[in-house]
Amino acid sequence: MRTKQEWARKTGIIALVTTLFFSMLYVGLAPRTAAEPEPGEPIIEEELLNVLLEIPNVEAAMKIMEMGIAFDHGLHEHDGVYEVEVLATPSELEKLESFGIEVHEVLMTEQQWNERVTEMHMTIQENASLLATEEKLQILRADHYTNQDSTFLYVEAKSSVGAATSTSLTATWLEDGVERSATLSRRSDYGEYLYHWFELAVEKVPATVTVTSNQGGTATAEVTEWLGGTKPSKPKKHYVKEFIDSYMTPTMINDRIDQLAKEFPDLLEVINMPYKTNGYRRHAMATMGGATNTAVVVTSKAWGHEGGNGLEVEFVDPGEANSPLTVETAENKVIVKLATDGAGNLTSTARQVAEAINQDASDLISANTYRGNTGGGLAQVWSSVLSDGLNGPEYVSREPQTVKALRIGKTKNGTKPGVLGYAQEHAREWVTPLVVMETAERLLRNYAHDSETKKLLNNLDIFLIPMVNPDGANYSFYDFNMQRRNMTNYCGPNQANDYGARNAWGVDLNRNHSVGSIWDGFVGASTSCTSDTYAGPDKNSEPEAKNIVWLADTYSNLKFAMNIHSHGGYFMWSPGAYDTNRTTLPRPTAGEEAFYWGASAHILTRIQEHRGTVIRPTRTGPIPDVLYSAAGNSADYLWYEKGIYSWNFEVGAQLWNGRQWVSVGFQPSYDEGHEEAMEFANGLIGLLEVAYQQSKDKQPPSSKLVPGRGTFSAPVEVSFDLSEPATIYYTLDGSRPTFESNKLQLSGTRELAEKLTISKTTTINWFAIDPAGNVEKNYNPLGNGKNYNSTTITIK
Ligand SMILES: [Zn+2]
Repeated sequence: MRTKQEWARKTGIIALVTTLFFSMLYVGLAPRTAAEPEPGEPIIEEELLNVLLEIPNVEAAMKIMEMGIAFDHGLHEHDGVYEVEVLATPSELEKLESFGIEVHEVLMTEQQWNERVTEMHMTIQENASLLATEEKLQILRADHYTNQDSTFLYVEAKSSVGAATSTSLTATWLEDGVERSATLSRRSDYGEYLYHWFELAVEKVPATVTVTSNQGGTATAEVTEWLGGTKPSKPKKHYVKEFIDSYMTPTMINDRIDQLAKEFPDLLEVINMPYKTNGYRRHAMATMGGATNTAVVVTSKAWGHEGGNGLEVEFVDPGEANSPLTVETAENKVIVKLATDGAGNLTSTARQVAEAINQDASDLISANTYRGNTGGGLAQVWSSVLSDGLNGPEYVSREPQTVKALRIGKTKNGTKPGVLGYAQEHAREWVTPLVVMETAERLLRNYAHDSETKKLLNNLDIFLIPMVNPDGANYSFYDFNMQRRNMTNYCGPNQANDYGARNAWGVDLNRNHSVGSIWDGFVGASTSCTSDTYAGPDKNSEPEAKNIVWLADTYSNLKFAMNIHSHGGYFMWSPGAYDTNRTTLPRPTAGEEAFYWGASAHILTRIQEHRGTVIRPTRTGPIPDVLYSAAGNSADYLWYEKGIYSWNFEVGAQLWNGRQWVSVGFQPSYDEGHEEAMEFANGLIGLLEVAYQQSKDKQPPSSKLVPGRGTFSAPVEVSFDLSEPATIYYTLDGSRPTFESNKLQLSGTRELAEKLTISKTTTINWFAIDPAGNVEKNYNPLGNGKNYNSTTITIK
């Protein structure tokens, strides 16, 4: 609805823009004059601030020009407000304020400018000193893989002077005797150099690749096959799959779960998790008025489906002079009679109307001005019917929902190792619950006749949550397909608490957890109630996040977890967050990292078996090495707080079209969604196989120091040879190694285990422990035994 006043305002602004276009021609060129000082006042040289001004009207705009302040970036509209970017001194801004022109945002101060320049000089200096050192160049990976029909060469290399942008790396290799070359791209994240890389479709896989740097370094590596390059496996005899034939809403998922529970009472227990969601429901709302300072936002006291929907609110002109502002309520209606002056003109401001409603109609509705506006404009004649904006059919319950977990296994008493797969924290990721439902049905329906499946169910305690966020899922299916978060509106009366913002509310359930959270200074979540990565009002505030915590607390046998998202074809693990210095949560030890990589290779091979989809090396690894920082994600909670090996799938790998990788999106055509569900169900079962292998692992690791005992004339670097991925605990002071001792760490991002530099005669005492908990030589770090390893390096 457009009102007369608004139209007048609009045409005024258009005229203003035209005027300004011409006036700027000379104003822009006119010499800048500082504000006239009062006689006798000292002349102070002021700094120039780059600010964004909010202009209420044409007169105010003219004032700015009269003062000789140039419109730097013209006039533009933003959310119904007119803004202009200018350079002005603090005293000029003070004067402008007296004309009702407010500073909306300070874009840049002189101090910030100085900081930028200093920063630039620092970078130049750092680069110069970096380039003065001798370059060490290493190839981190040289892989080939075949994805569906095309074969790729992938190389990752790291230069010790790679942080300097002038460092450039080139790879060369032979293809059928012909030399080919490629320039590597530099990968940095949040200001930190990670490595250089390239990926290229090739006709023939070379045996080796050489990387040369323009800073003098060179390195050569053998090209090896990423993930072993499995061919699609032959279908197993009697193995049944393909239980999904469409995308599934929460109602459909719950119906299927009930049906499976009836069919498989011995194998499946349905766990009703204790924290009910806030419900697929909202209060009904309307925004009464067409401009930010004249509008009044009204919200029903009742939920939309319980009487809020259909409530009528009217702001009326009483049609007589000197009439007071009054609010009348009838059963389903609120009528606000706006006040008039002696001439019969309307005089109630938006703020006055909101206050009057809150005083006299509070049993039916509440009111606030628009997004924190002072509401000084005159309320307009208006009428609205309130709505919660929810389009889901009536059979979709509006009540708080119980989130279900399926517990699958033969022995469900906590004695078997637990594995958790959970999906759809993010509502719009429609493929993810299908991965979980397909996996559940494969396990249940193959148990009777497939020995592999039987083995898994007899030895593991499997927990599957198809849909962490059912309210958001309903919203994504029926109302707003790109909904990511839950539906809870935390925007207060001074924020975007109005009907127009309804698609921007909710908490990101993969940012609401307590480890590495935004409240602890970590990056990759937001405190804005309308951000898609809104972390919520507090750690673990949301019932959906509490359910994950509850599950991990209740079932202490959990050892592995998979947090299932879409899309992009990523496979990642902790750390999942870093702070503003890009300091990550503690990295897994070198042994844990080796286990993550080994288990990942198995899982990704299973995915590839379905239709040849390769989860590429550039998208596999700890989250900050391949994607970004995600403060307060749930997998970090499970790993750091509960010691559960936790991965994150991003299902929906890009597809290669012969020339480039093509994104599949959150809601691909069902045909593609089906394929993704099948391949990642393979992967989830691959995780169960990893867990099964570990449950049978009673073999302690063995380790040996390289070089071993001996006498050396100079400092020596020592490393540990291990029989399997395992964490080394060591001491260098001759004391007994315990779980409190130093752990062998990674030497760097995407690098292998660190080497210890021994520069004086040292006795190294250590033991290794594998992820299954087997300790080398059955040494007990908590006891008093001496059966740990001990080697003395003598330096003469
Ligand atoms: Zn997601």
